[in-house]
Amino acid sequence: MNRITLLGATGSIGASTLDVIARHPERFSLFAATAGRSVDALVSLCIRFQPRFAVVADEQRLGSLRDGLRAAGLPTIARAGEAALAEVACAPECDTVVAAIVGAAGLVSTIAAARAGKRVLLANKESIVSAGRLLVDAVRAGGGELLPVDSEHSAIHQCLAGAQVAGRDVRRLILTASGGPFRTRGNLDGITPEQACAHPNWVMGRKISVDSATLMNKGLEVIEASWLFGFDAGRIDVVVHPQSVIHSMVEFVDGSVVAQLGTPDMRTPIAYALAYPERIDSGSATIDFARLGTLSFEAPDLQRFRCLALAYEALAGGTGRTATLNAANEVAVEAFLGGRLQFADIPSIIEQTLGAVDADEPASIEAVLEIDARARRAAARCVDRHAVAILNPAG
Ligand code: NAD
Ligand code: MG
Repeated sequence: MNRITLLGATGSIGASTLDVIARHPERFSLFAATAGRSVDALVSLCIRFQPRFAVVADEQRLGSLRDGLRAAGLPTIARAGEAALAEVACAPECDTVVAAIVGAAGLVSTIAAARAGKRVLLANKESIVSAGRLLVDAVRAGGGELLPVDSEHSAIHQCLAGAQVAGRDVRRLILTASGGPFRTRGNLDGITPEQACAHPNWVMGRKISVDSATLMNKGLEVIEASWLFGFDAGRIDVVVHPQSVIHSMVEFVDGSVVAQLGTPDMRTPIAYALAYPERIDSGSATIDFARLGTLSFEAPDLQRFRCLALAYEALAGGTGRTATLNAANEVAVEAFLGGRLQFADIPSIIEQTLGAVDADEPASIEAVLEIDARARRAAARCVDRHAVAILNPAG
């Protein structure tokens, strides 16, 4: 029995993971489930999956979590706070940790799982973007393994199977991008959060949906691929593929290109990582190629979607830069979703923050957290200045 800690159980990846787990009760059981604030959703899934622990990150909600579990007659133990998230991620009774918290808020618990030698299934791309080599080193030191959940990285993992990755076999990695909801829209002014979150192919959390609309999601994924597979930026390309059927590709030195295809359903990469190296049913649908008809490709527009170019630049500058990029993006996206920033101004906030924050290569997770905090303060000041500039256009 593979006992799973699901960090971010109430989110979109959390729900897809639970769906796969429920299909294989003889294989998987839930050891712990965590949420940021949504206690009701956490209690509901505890009723269904009966984990040993339920953790809410927001300590103010411990009482209501306890009450909810008691009212449901469950023996599940309630915990709260970031330390409790890390505790259930490295508990000896757990084998696999699914890291599906959104944002750098998932960093500490992901690192804890890695250090404890767990099989870590990484959805939380912000943690590898912020910590870079430190996360890879923690996995190595812990003696566990890191498997991607992100569909592009799962595709690359599948395409690489057995190849000499960082060695001579591979010419380049090719990440596909849907292009997001504004791929064909010339003007990015006046976009609302609802429009930005209406992704053409995937239903996801709001933060990653906005990232997909700005193409920052692909930028974060280029950085993620660089650390997961050991490639520098010059050997990771991005191509826009609006149908999201090819999830990514690997080009080998002999000219062969291997691609992984599937319907856009996160249960496929989740099932792949949960059962690796075996294959299990994920519940996803079969592709009907005849109905699909066409697969098309185009170059990403780096002028209109500057976030992707900023991510490549940050990757070349090191982990101090990618941690800053990530924090600034989180602040900008939150401001946009909160109605305090225009969609089109998200890249400027990130660029200004990168200009204002001088961060060395972090040597520890504490150093990453310090850079993250500093970058958030700088980005928040940039957002405030933008708001003032909009109120007083003449000044
Ligand atoms: P979501 O917003 O639907 O869910 C986020 C989860 O994290 C929820 O359980 C929430 O309660 C929890 N959370 C939020 N803030 C927290 C905090 N401060 N502390 C602890 N927990 C907190 O997000 P999602 O779409 O499921 O994405 C999760 C991660 O997976 C992100 O890093 C995203 O980039 C990545 N990812 C998602 C998809 C997808 O299809 N949704 C695909 C690839 C990668
Ligand atoms: Mg992805």
